[in-house]
Amino acid sequence: MSDEVKDVYSVIDLSNWKSVTQNVSPPPRLAVIGDPVAHSASPQLHNPALQHCGIDAQYVRVHVQPSELPEAIKLFQENDFLGVNVTIPHKAEVAKLIDQVDPLAERIGAVNTILFEDSQTLGFNSDAPGFKQAIRDEFFVDLRDMRVMIVGAGGGAGRAVAIQCALDHCERLVLVNRTTEKAKQLADELRKDFEDDRVTGPGRRLAAIGLDDEEILEEQLSQVDLIVNATNLGMKRSDPSVLPPSLLQPHHLVYDMVYKPANTRLMESARAAGARASNGLSMLLWQGAISFEYWFNRTAPVDVMKQGLRSVFPD
Ligand code: NAP
Repeated sequence: MSDEVKDVYSVIDLSNWKSVTQNVSPPPRLAVIGDPVAHSASPQLHNPALQHCGIDAQYVRVHVQPSELPEAIKLFQENDFLGVNVTIPHKAEVAKLIDQVDPLAERIGAVNTILFEDSQTLGFNSDAPGFKQAIRDEFFVDLRDMRVMIVGAGGGAGRAVAIQCALDHCERLVLVNRTTEKAKQLADELRKDFEDDRVTGPGRRLAAIGLDDEEILEEQLSQVDLIVNATNLGMKRSDPSVLPPSLLQPHHLVYDMVYKPANTRLMESARAAGARASNGLSMLLWQGAISFEYWFNRTAPVDVMKQGLRSVFPD
């Protein structure tokens, strides 16, 4: 008879993995690691996909503290794991422990997907291409045609989506951050990606501004199509809209990377202004689908994964 899978395993469990999981079926051979990790919906996203594809493995959560990270990676390898997803706060640190980091993850400076292959560890970033696919899915547009504003460009997620926008040669990129200096530093890093003679109408193709000057925000908002919230604001129901509601316009497409709650103040303000708005669930879905493709070198069953996510986050 098969034992119940635990909600969250620990690194101590990993060091004794064969006996801890000897009666667990299918065998846990994929995991998400983080600190905390109990909230992660990745098992509900991946397990239906594994079952659908007839893969004899299951996906679990493992709580890994920063000091345990090197040991955890070694133990995953020793215990024949196929791959691991990495979440907060390990995405940057884990890149230093991986044998080969692919160029996109290297440029972002963050690995969220590890593939164990022939005693090698390979690192990828599926957040950035997951965002790109989510924008296509939600708004039927491509980043390359968009004038984009990223609010929270100084954080990890903001950096990943800014680099994806730069690689896709979006028409304009406006980096906004509470700490303006961080947005300016990122703009300096991306400047070479925006040095061409593309005709874009008024305004420079790359700008970095603070969140506190409403006049400058208003001027920039009139010259962007897609607004991305990559800040933590919106995760608490009491959080205000990250942008002043009066500055949102009907032509805006608003993508809030927050997905819990399903509707943030920013999204509500956008809809009230006649704009379209979406939460970040589609990015969660697509980063998972792209990780699955790295692990199994086959197309992910995205509809099955979407249904799995709906069981955790009903509409
Ligand atoms: P992070 O690295 O800690 O960055 C946080 C960002 O939010 C920084 O730019 C910070 O500005 C800004 N910020 C925090 N509190 C703020 C406030 N009260 N007012 C204005 N700005 C504020 O976090 P992260 O990992 O990038 O995550 C950011 C958000 O993206 C979170 O909501 C997370 O859930 C979401 N996310 C979603 C997905 C998805 O799949 N949908 C994936 C990754 C992340 P300063 O630089 O000034 O501190």
